Amino acid sequence: MIVFSAFVPHPPIAIPEVGKENLDKLSDTIKAYQTLEHEIYSAKPDTIILISSHAEQREEAFAVNQAPDFKVNFKKFGDLVTNLQFKNDIGFGYQIKELCEDYFPVMMTAQEELDYGSGVPLFYLTQHLPNIKVVSIAYSNLSSEDHFKFGQIIRKQINLAGKRVAVIASGDLSHKLHKDSPAGYSARGQEFDQKIIKALAEKKVDDVIHLDPELVKEAGECGHRALLVLLGVIDELNYEHRQLSYQSPFGIGYLVTNFEIK
Ligand SMILES: [Zn+2]
Repeated sequence: MIVFSAFVPHPPIAIPEVGKENLDKLSDTIKAYQTLEHEIYSAKPDTIILISSHAEQREEAFAVNQAPDFKVNFKKFGDLVTNLQFKNDIGFGYQIKELCEDYFPVMMTAQEELDYGSGVPLFYLTQHLPNIKVVSIAYSNLSSEDHFKFGQIIRKQINLAGKRVAVIASGDLSHKLHKDSPAGYSARGQEFDQKIIKALAEKKVDDVIHLDPELVKEAGECGHRALLVLLGVIDELNYEHRQLSYQSPFGIGYLVTNFEIK
């Protein structure tokens, strides 16, 4: 059963050893992560399914990481201290691949070192879940509808597996919100973020699926397809949407949302 689901951002600066004196610029996001950490801990999941926008991708296929163990560090960002390790729920990941393959191309990858899009949420959300297993999934270049459907099929496998599963989608919204944004400025960045926030608040999942592809492209985001997979997973469940934070101190939209399963 699905016991927890959330959409989260992945600024490496949120990691204390990376962010250091910049950490307080992300205080809303970090507080929201701490709230989620309480929620996931009390949900007692056996496994986290993590859909990250920076996991190793295949253009024409979804991908499930089948490395036996996972490591998380932030060496690329100058942090030589933080090191986490997780067991892959490898059999469960394989079952997901098998079932989804009836509908879409699904590849297996074998990346022991997880991407920072997986690393940031795992850092915050597993602080009191030392034995949690992880399934790492990457999205593809297939259509928005396919991503949503992919999530629906993952749910089928979760229901078959009879375990307590947390589903987390990791992605940032527009990277073009301010004049000093790393990807440059576009007025459509704000438009994209506001449309996502509004559609989620109003539970208009169709509006997220059918967002204008030109707008999505122009926004310079990395979270849309991860979010679509998550919305597919929780589709048909009774959930309450709770936005915990939204901020963009570096010109990138960071949204933290809990979809509380009732
Ligand atoms: Zn990203």
